[in-house]
Amino acid sequence: MPILTVRMGAVLWPLSRLPRRIHHRCYLGCGGRLFKRMRRATVVSGLRKNNFLGCVIAAAITTMAPAVVHATDTAPAEPLLAYGARIVGDDARTRIVIDFDRAPTFSIHYIANPERVVVDLPATAFGFPAKDLEARGLFKDIRYGKMDEDSARIVLTATKPLKIGLAKVQADEGGKGQRLVLEAEISDKEKFDELVKAQSWAEPAAPDVTSAIPSPAQPGSGDFIVAVDAGHGGIDTGAIGIDTKTQEKDVTLAFARALADRLNREPGIKAFLTRKDDSFLSLSERVEIARQNHAGLFVSMHADTLKQKDIRGATVYTISDKASDKLAADLAERENLSDQIAGKAAATEPPEVADILLDLTRRETQAFSISLAESVLASFKDQVGTINNPHRHAGFRVLQAPDVPSILLELGFLSNKDDEKLLLDDEWRGKMADLLTEAVKHYHSSMVANGG
Ligand SMILES: [Zn+2]
Repeated sequence: MPILTVRMGAVLWPLSRLPRRIHHRCYLGCGGRLFKRMRRATVVSGLRKNNFLGCVIAAAITTMAPAVVHATDTAPAEPLLAYGARIVGDDARTRIVIDFDRAPTFSIHYIANPERVVVDLPATAFGFPAKDLEARGLFKDIRYGKMDEDSARIVLTATKPLKIGLAKVQADEGGKGQRLVLEAEISDKEKFDELVKAQSWAEPAAPDVTSAIPSPAQPGSGDFIVAVDAGHGGIDTGAIGIDTKTQEKDVTLAFARALADRLNREPGIKAFLTRKDDSFLSLSERVEIARQNHAGLFVSMHADTLKQKDIRGATVYTISDKASDKLAADLAERENLSDQIAGKAAATEPPEVADILLDLTRRETQAFSISLAESVLASFKDQVGTINNPHRHAGFRVLQAPDVPSILLELGFLSNKDDEKLLLDDEWRGKMADLLTEAVKHYHSSMVANGG
């Protein structure tokens, strides 16, 4: 079959790749008799003879003339052309980008049971391969198509309660087209239900291309917010105690609860748990929960095992591309397996694009993380045993928030009998919570003193 192309705006499309609707409706600028003839065309792959001729003529006309639809009395305005799509991200944050030939107006709605996001658009021809917008991350199903002559719709079925944190239209760098960018992030059931209740289905009046979705509200209280993350959970048990067979996920939850309670007794500090019970959270979800709650700090608690059973004591980890040593590298590798244990898809790159501002934020955050690690180790001095070189670093995915200073604290090792005893001791847990609270207070006051 010869490869024919038709010109649509600035884009050349091989006929064989045009979606059915474009063939059928023939948005090619052909009016009158030819238009009627084209409307009968039902070309998908095998072109029937008369349609083939029609399309050849249409292609010839449109390559000679600029692509303008000659609107007839009955013909609708030329639809938008969505000619490209991408979806990236994971089960905590997913970004969808759709390329249009010109700026679309759009409106967004939420529907419950199951949770769905509806994006309403003017008449649109979807001309990208279906596989480019295959469901992933926060979405388990994505459908799109025509509603009526004047409108089209994208329906995104979610895997869990979410919200669209960002929705905007922006021009392509080359100025060729416009892209619709949607960023979905996890939320909870109550918040999702509120979104459903609060919305109105009135016609989107605003020709304004940017949606009016507000950015997340800042906490008003001025409290310093600390995310306390109990490592592992649910199907991911973590390490197992050498003597008592206690599971790491239970140890970390007990410590996280003790620390959050202790921090919440301090005026001006508000701590919350990323998981409150024995449930599984992916590493990205932990990071995203901290960010959504405007955490100023993220502390992930662990009590892993080592092959070397004699090694004992606490360690504080911060993130880095390159591990400080083999022990840190091995541990990060094991921790990062958490998502796979629960059968989650392999980690993908976060949706953020590399940019210089983000890079600066990351570097600043890393400096704060290191300062927090130092505060923690200073509070442990002469109080809590630590391993040699107790501040180490490696590529822990749970520490990857670009804007929340984060540490991973190994409270001790469940592979060491003495550590195991301490890890199950109420009194020692209380003491650790006291010392960590001192460290957080010290970190916070030095940050405030530096104008942070
Ligand atoms: Zn762990």
